[in-house]
Amino acid sequence: MFQYSSSTMTQDGTSLSPEQALQHARLTFQNNQVYSIKQRITEVKRVIEYIRINRESITDELTQATGKTRTDALVSEILGVLDNLHWNCANAKRILTEKKVHTPITLLGKSSRIRHEPFGVILLIAPWNYPLHISLTFAIGAFLAGNCVVIKPSEHTPMPGLLERIFAAAPLLASCIQVIYGDGKTAQQLIDAKPDKIFFTGSTVTGKKILRQASEHLIPVDVELGGKDPMIVFEDVNIQRTVAGALWGAMTNAGQSCTSVELLYLQRSIFNPFITQFKQAMEELVINTGDQGNADVGAITTNFQAEIIQEHLEDAKRKGANLFSVGQAISATSRLIPPTLVTDVSEDMLIVQEETFGPVVCAIPFDSEDEIIRLVNQSPYGLSASVWSKDLKRAQRVSHALQTGAVSINNVMLTEGNPALPFGGVKESGFGRGKGEEGLLAFTRSKAIIIDK
Ligand code: NAD
Repeated sequence: MFQYSSSTMTQDGTSLSPEQALQHARLTFQNNQVYSIKQRITEVKRVIEYIRINRESITDELTQATGKTRTDALVSEILGVLDNLHWNCANAKRILTEKKVHTPITLLGKSSRIRHEPFGVILLIAPWNYPLHISLTFAIGAFLAGNCVVIKPSEHTPMPGLLERIFAAAPLLASCIQVIYGDGKTAQQLIDAKPDKIFFTGSTVTGKKILRQASEHLIPVDVELGGKDPMIVFEDVNIQRTVAGALWGAMTNAGQSCTSVELLYLQRSIFNPFITQFKQAMEELVINTGDQGNADVGAITTNFQAEIIQEHLEDAKRKGANLFSVGQAISATSRLIPPTLVTDVSEDMLIVQEETFGPVVCAIPFDSEDEIIRLVNQSPYGLSASVWSKDLKRAQRVSHALQTGAVSINNVMLTEGNPALPFGGVKESGFGRGKGEEGLLAFTRSKAIIIDK
């Protein structure tokens, strides 16, 4: 299932060193400045059509490479990408076109404008949990903004040839986006070859290393990092509906999403009935790797991630937590980890402090609005959260007080599903925004122009 290639290759199969790849991208950028946004949109529409027609075979490749379920591959990867690309095609011209802006009386008679110019070469470093969605969405956003792109996919899910086949549906786009395979060392060499901007999605630890290295060359970096997302449930909710939301939030993609629900905060009066219903719902889950028929919860993509999850569970057990699991026992060969609810947790447990990134959720009681805001905000992470209450005023008040990049109210993981919304974190979850208007502008430098007529 896992393929690793230390070689670096362009889409036509030519082997290039990371330095040569960057040079190639820079040259292509200089030669491709003549293409209009309209021509670029036409190219992206060709990519959309290719993915739409080939969605079944792409789903097969994704499930084989990652072990995720067909539903996860289709919904979160393929439909997610298509939504983003459609939105970008519909909005790129409006967002990226030069704009006339206000000129003050002190500059009477002059005309002020903002141009959104491409950076040049964008280096996109991608993680393994959404190998298609993340690479395609951001590479194509950067292309629409006029850049050339070098993608360095994760060495754990390289899926050699898939991105190149998709890009080949659009010749101009294919000439502007290269895929360079390799591990962290290859990424470091690409950074030393001085791209004009880096867009990184991955762990907080790696994000910090990239920031340090990029600072040597003064390369701007956007970092989309890890999370430990809370779901806050007040006592006035419809428990049955909220249980379904919690289960989806914790188990989709087998919990391997940066915005997975990892901490389920329940107001004390509903803690017991909620947990009872949650356990009943867990019993219904179908667990399987995506290539063995569809399921609710798929496999863990990498062995090392399965080990981290196991370590968190063992640490919690040793320190006195209660574990409720459904499905088969952990198997080293299949990497199917049983969905697990953890209760009676304490602050010193890894499962409370660190990103677990598996089909595991901790349920924790709380008493008051003030207490829950304090608890959530003391986390070093701040990616997204959800707040559940029939009292929308309270839910909005809490959502404003949370130190996170996004909040869904009375639903879960919704914000990243809307391509019109910016996506990104605060604190150890990173900075910069992908998607939405800000996401496209992130691939441009603004130039101020004043014309004295
Ligand atoms: P990772 O940080 O281990 O690897 C990500 C990428 O960085 C890979 O391509 C890897 O080869 C590269 N890399 C490794 N060492 C490097 C170095 N020293 N310099 C440059 N690049 C290097 O992350 P992962 O395990 O692949 O992905 C899981 C993590 O990604 C989780 O923490 C998850 O929360 C996070 N994530 C965040 C978002 C988001 O939008 N915030 C989305 C998806 C995943």
